[in-house]
Amino acid sequence: MQQQHALRVYKFGGASVKDAAAIRNLMEIVREQRRQGPLLVVVSAMGKTTNALEEIFRLAYAGQAYAQPLTTLEAFHRTTARELAAGFGPHTEAAIQEAFDGAFQDLAARLAGVSAQREYDEQYDQIVSFGELLASQLIACALNDEQPTRWLDCRPLLRTDACWREARLDWLATEAQLRTAVPKLLREVNVLVTQGFVGGTAGGATTTLGREGSDYTAAIFAYCLQAGSVTIWKDVAGLLNADPKFFADTVRYPEISYQETIEMAYYGASVIHPKTIKPLAVRQIPLFVKSFLDPTAAGTRIGEGRHALLAPAFIRKSGQCLISFESKDLTFISEENLQVIFGALAQVRLKINMMQNSAISFSVCTDLVAHRLEKLLALLREQFTIHYNTGLELYTIRNYDPASIRRLTAGREVLLEQRSRQTLQVVCRGGSEFVQ
Ligand code: ASP
Ligand code: MG
Repeated sequence: MQQQHALRVYKFGGASVKDAAAIRNLMEIVREQRRQGPLLVVVSAMGKTTNALEEIFRLAYAGQAYAQPLTTLEAFHRTTARELAAGFGPHTEAAIQEAFDGAFQDLAARLAGVSAQREYDEQYDQIVSFGELLASQLIACALNDEQPTRWLDCRPLLRTDACWREARLDWLATEAQLRTAVPKLLREVNVLVTQGFVGGTAGGATTTLGREGSDYTAAIFAYCLQAGSVTIWKDVAGLLNADPKFFADTVRYPEISYQETIEMAYYGASVIHPKTIKPLAVRQIPLFVKSFLDPTAAGTRIGEGRHALLAPAFIRKSGQCLISFESKDLTFISEENLQVIFGALAQVRLKINMMQNSAISFSVCTDLVAHRLEKLLALLREQFTIHYNTGLELYTIRNYDPASIRRLTAGREVLLEQRSRQTLQVVCRGGSEFVQ
């Protein structure tokens, strides 16, 4: 690229675009930065829009009425647009409402076409992706009122396979497409606004990259365009050692390595999507996590390098399910048995967060996805006796020490525990037990 300054990628999540005030704050952050060169803004759906779309889709698929939640969702977007556009010229408000007219018509038509005869996950992607389309159109129009800004539809550019709801990127095709399309646009405008979370197949169908996948989108753009940095704007002060919603006395890591961040994200630290780090590490692109409530504060810099021992990080995953498989004939859990179990888990797409085995039993802790668990039971209940508990919590401590273990396990009933040199994991009880 011919720019004087390297491209920067900013990612704004759902909380940072949740209403008109939040979007005004985003605009302020972008305004402050605009002299520093070209900017690519990746946005998530507003607030809880993705959850709302999931529910609307679920109803449509079940053949139930969804008009009411759809009307609520549309009203929420239209009202936010009006509130936001109050200070703008009439063209901006008209541009937003026109974009919304098209998008909501399209959404309604697609919902009307949802059919229980066709695959759930494929149709899910066509509907649930609308949250990012709407938010990015709104924000592009709003920013364009202040400075030339373009809306970029990333679906034809981020090429993926058809692994619906968890699409895998075709890096070569995506890189080639982005490197053709984006620099051209950045010669005309300084700011581009695009969608997180979504991509598209070669055949033109929309795909999604997995819930909370917008961080990953920012990393994909940064990698392919060799950006100078990525900044994820959050409602917390940076990368903290625990989620302040569940733990008191959190500390911020001012700097942390890619490696350590990958580990934390992998275990479920919700601040960054786990797939985000690798592409950035490969091209040595620093990742900043900053607070949109306090944009000039230091935040966290994630980059290359090793550091001294970090404060223990506490990571909580709720909604867990502990499944234990016992061979019915008291034979040992062997490689052959494990192969069957792993094969079935992969087939139903349940991911293992932790596992352990004894002589005749093998236990896995997974996120509970009810319809996937049902399929798993159907596949394996003939061969194994299966016990499972739901409503559990999985806690991980990275860089644990005796004090952090005491703090975590005090007053909790531990069902399963495992430790390696740096990581301790415990599954704790909450829900009820079932036997199949
Ligand atoms: N809107 C999507 C979700 O809520 C993607 C994201 O927020 O990163 O999962
Ligand atoms: Mg979101």
